[in-house]
Amino acid sequence: MKMIARPATPDAEALPEYRLSPAAPRAVEVTKRDGTRYAVVLNAAGVPVYCTCLGFHFRGRCRHAAMVADALEHHDISVDLS
Ligand SMILES: [Zn+2]
Repeated sequence: MKMIARPATPDAEALPEYRLSPAAPRAVEVTKRDGTRYAVVLNAAGVPVYCTCLGFHFRGRCRHAAMVADALEHHDISVDLS
């Protein structure tokens, strides 16, 4: 039997680098190191309610929304909620 090495897969310890930047009011642009961009949309209370990535589309949650929520909670970014 031939053993095939599994390709390295990204895991929690090898998270790609993301950059968060406030975009339109109530939205944060999340830019991945490879240039992929997602938009996380906030409600009037500043809670992420939507992301343009496929993960959110299928599961209703994703790491982008989570990291935006975390950044807002820790005041790493500020977003216009008006
Ligand atoms: Zn997402």
